Amino acid sequence: MADDLIYVDHAATTPVHPQVAEAMAPFLDRAFGNPSSLHGLGRDAAVALDAARDEVAQILNARPSELIFGSGGSESINTALKGVAFAQQHAGAGTHIVTTAVEHHAVLHTLEYLERFGFEITRLEVDAEGFVDPDQVARAIGGETVLVSVMLANNEVGTIQPIAAIAAAVKERGRELGRRVPLHTDAVQAPGQLPLDVVELDVDLLSISAHKFRGPKGAGLLYLRRGTPFLAQQTGGGQERNRRAGTENLPAIVGLATALAIAERRRPEFVREVGRVRDAFLARVLAELPGAVRNGPATDRLPNNANVHFEGVDGQQLLDELDRVGVAASSGSACTTSSWEPSHVLLAMGADQQAAAGSLRVTLGLENTIAQTDAIVERLKAILPTLQGAAQPSSPTGARA
Ligand code: PLP
Repeated sequence: MADDLIYVDHAATTPVHPQVAEAMAPFLDRAFGNPSSLHGLGRDAAVALDAARDEVAQILNARPSELIFGSGGSESINTALKGVAFAQQHAGAGTHIVTTAVEHHAVLHTLEYLERFGFEITRLEVDAEGFVDPDQVARAIGGETVLVSVMLANNEVGTIQPIAAIAAAVKERGRELGRRVPLHTDAVQAPGQLPLDVVELDVDLLSISAHKFRGPKGAGLLYLRRGTPFLAQQTGGGQERNRRAGTENLPAIVGLATALAIAERRRPEFVREVGRVRDAFLARVLAELPGAVRNGPATDRLPNNANVHFEGVDGQQLLDELDRVGVAASSGSACTTSSWEPSHVLLAMGADQQAAAGSLRVTLGLENTIAQTDAIVERLKAILPTLQGAAQPSSPTGARA
């Protein structure tokens, strides 16, 4: 990374923390054993794997046996949704799944896949700030419902869903129907910013991904509450208690556990300090930049997330220009080879096509300073008039209702 690059795309990925790299190093080198091997090197690896599992279990308030290590957020989510859905379809319990319209594609595309196998999906609408109503979730549950999946925090606009209230509503509805309806939450954006206590959240499944909280890429975790119906999606050896076959990626798992411990320890500082920088940035953007509109809520939002659009500005051009002047930011919109797709999240929140294709997402880390976000504002001031073309700049508008 160039020394003067301002990296504000932490929701996409984060740099590995030096202490994480240090903790991983021995397992790439002298302690390279396979945890399933019966010799000393293997036993050492098994001990390290158990220690990593215990550490993560403690942070999540889970049992070590309830954790399944895998390759990242997408794998954990695939394993969760397919594992629970197919187990219950097989048992004749039903084929209906409830989710929201603002989930990550790891959830939405996996559910589209399940539709091909006979599942029926209800995608709940959200309000203008991206929130789903717990009662609405409960009302969508019927006698055929086998799974509910609602994200803990949105990756584009940072909206924090009321998961504990959703869990209570799902439980209550399950009691009325005389069935247990498992609840999965995609918590990929939450570590280091929100508590991950699975008892407090009262979820049956929870997915996270190490590279989002300064761990390595290629490591993820699924929490699977004991007793939840589940069919392994990757078969082979007996690793992960027969729930995910394949030799464990021990360096990455040790990295995940170390990164999670650091993220959890620094969470109060992160929430306070990063939230302060984000608030200062957003206040300046809305006050000083013409046509700036906030996307997403003012409160109940990830402390590191700012998302805005600028009237009349194309998102792709804006990101290209920011990249040119040394700012690595992002947009909710997906860039494919042929087109710039509007954000499905912003569309579901009621944004028009232009706003949904023109958003700027800035996601901060502890290293970002107010001096850096001030520099971003100054660079935006220089860039925006050209992008807004001949259009008369409208006055700053503040938050979208
Ligand atoms: N879920 C959310 C909310 C995410 O933000 C991401 C990644 O951006 C994923 C799932 C997928 O995680 P991974 O890229 O580690 O597979």
